[in-house]
Amino acid sequence: MQFEQLGLIEPILKAVKAEGYTTPTPIQEQSIPIVLTGKDLLGCAQTGTGKTAAFAIPILQRLYNENWSSAGYKHIRALILTPTRELASQIGDSFTAYGKHTGLKHDVIFGGVPQHKQVISLRSGTDILIATPGRLLDLMNQGIIYLNYLEVFVLDEADRMLDMGFINDIKKIIKELPTERQTLFFSATMPPKISQLANSLLYKPEKVTV
Ligand code: AMP
Repeated sequence: MQFEQLGLIEPILKAVKAEGYTTPTPIQEQSIPIVLTGKDLLGCAQTGTGKTAAFAIPILQRLYNENWSSAGYKHIRALILTPTRELASQIGDSFTAYGKHTGLKHDVIFGGVPQHKQVISLRSGTDILIATPGRLLDLMNQGIIYLNYLEVFVLDEADRMLDMGFINDIKKIIKELPTERQTLFFSATMPPKISQLANSLLYKPEKVTV
């Protein structure tokens, strides 16, 4: 299997090749076509499997394809929720790499640092937001972030989120999301609590396990 066979557009293929990737990893091969169709996804995969590109690449493609007519202010159309600042930064780096020919903008927000710079960047509009739960809720409560235009929601490392005690924050965030959206749910493990959360968030999901 080659990246060309996954139905990807040229601006993204070019960027993926520039990263030096020759073939998609198993999670990418299975997930990219599903995410491109707009279906929900339940992915059982650990970090190191190429999970980030498995959601970042098709999200970029979906938003890019819809972008042509929408000149003007950028609204948040994709949200990636992840447990730590390190993961948030890495995911941001991936969007920078795969999205460099798309013209789409992303922002990364996490706690433990002053919010000023994050807020200034957000105020100019963004297509994709990568966030840790606490800082996201904080900025939502301040009216700086609203998610009414959201099309794709990714919950990354769901099991770690629960271990870190983020469940209540996550529930508060989910309440604010449009119900009509695509949801991608990733977890390395699927104990009952995680399955329950997945069931409550996903609509007829395709399942991918690597
Ligand atoms: P992740 O599981 O998303 O944290 O990715 C793990 C590492 O694999 C990252 O350093 C990626 O740059 C790299 N990677 C992702 N997809 C591919 C691929 N198709 N070919 C080679 N390396 C990849």
